[in-house]
Amino acid sequence: MKSAYIHIPFCEHICHYCDFNKYFIQSQPVGEYLNALEQEMINTIAKTGQPDLKTIFIGGGTPTSLSEEQLKKLMDTIIRVLKPSSALSEFAVEANPDDLSAGKLKILKEAGVNRLSFGVQTFEDDLLEKIGRVHKQKDVFASFERAREIGFDNISLDLMFGLPGQTLKHLDHSLNTALSLDAEHYSVYSLIVEPKTVFYNLMQKGRLHLPPQEQEAEMYEMVMSRMEAHGIHQYEISNFAKAGMESKHNLTYWSNEEYFGFGAGAHGYISGTRTVNVGPVKHYIDLIAEKGFPYRDTHEVTIEEQIEEEMFLGLRKTAGVSKKRFAEKYGRSLDELFPSVLKDLAEKGLIHNSESAVCLTHQGKLLGNEVFGAFLGEL
Ligand code: SF4
Repeated sequence: MKSAYIHIPFCEHICHYCDFNKYFIQSQPVGEYLNALEQEMINTIAKTGQPDLKTIFIGGGTPTSLSEEQLKKLMDTIIRVLKPSSALSEFAVEANPDDLSAGKLKILKEAGVNRLSFGVQTFEDDLLEKIGRVHKQKDVFASFERAREIGFDNISLDLMFGLPGQTLKHLDHSLNTALSLDAEHYSVYSLIVEPKTVFYNLMQKGRLHLPPQEQEAEMYEMVMSRMEAHGIHQYEISNFAKAGMESKHNLTYWSNEEYFGFGAGAHGYISGTRTVNVGPVKHYIDLIAEKGFPYRDTHEVTIEEQIEEEMFLGLRKTAGVSKKRFAEKYGRSLDELFPSVLKDLAEKGLIHNSESAVCLTHQGKLLGNEVFGAFLGEL
């Protein structure tokens, strides 16, 4: 069974840290884009056969920046073309607290959406302004309450730390506020300054003042301990959930399973081939019209690459990489393929290498990139 990711590349505003594929929604050909998206789904399924999907995730951009009419059209397309069955266990949508009307929530609910992921980032209004978000703390409370009233019982709050000017006290307040809402899931990522963002330009000019590295590590420690104290267990480096409420869609990625990627800039992984769609909206629409498929790049993943991906994706999970599953999938044992890397990382205290799995230690979570990098190029 496969998953599907659907990308809506439109936003009402552009955040200072964002390097996703997104465009100001005003003046964009949204109607044409939704038609092209439908055509991409139809053409893909004609090639692969009708999939029985286990998860669908609509991300962006901001899916909820679509008008009610456009959102309804998107939902109708998904139901008509992807034909979700009773096997679909998760249908998730990313939502912005400032544009989540009751009307949009009802459209999502009626279409079968059963999980919302709110882009909150922080509960400090002045920090929100600094990072280019337009919503305020009160908008999160209001839209969260509306979503609950309409019956959404699986909500993720997405937070960030390491923001310019953010202190441990700010983070403490944000975490307490987020936890007081009693959401089912929390994603908490550190800010990474990516090229072609407002923050990157400010950094180049020496005008971006980020918390020092040691403080960022303290912030991550605070996130982990606070979640644990509230019984919200960490199941991935940056993700925390109540028991049974983990993101099934994201677990597909971390378990290196296959998924469709529909929409401008979306990535897919089907039948051993990774695909990358073109990003610009007009280019995407034109390619669908001309060729039926919007690929910028397709790459058949070699077995060595699959194994590397299995390691650096799987190690993100608290459960780590299961040795049994690995051996069933690749016909070789992990210990046989990576004897020196496993020994070295275990000696440095970065991984636990037990009989059943390899997983990160507490220290390994802090130095994740060092661990993931150790498996690259080893085969
Ligand atoms: S962070 Fe989200 S809302 Fe902000 S610009 Fe990026 S995609 Fe749009």
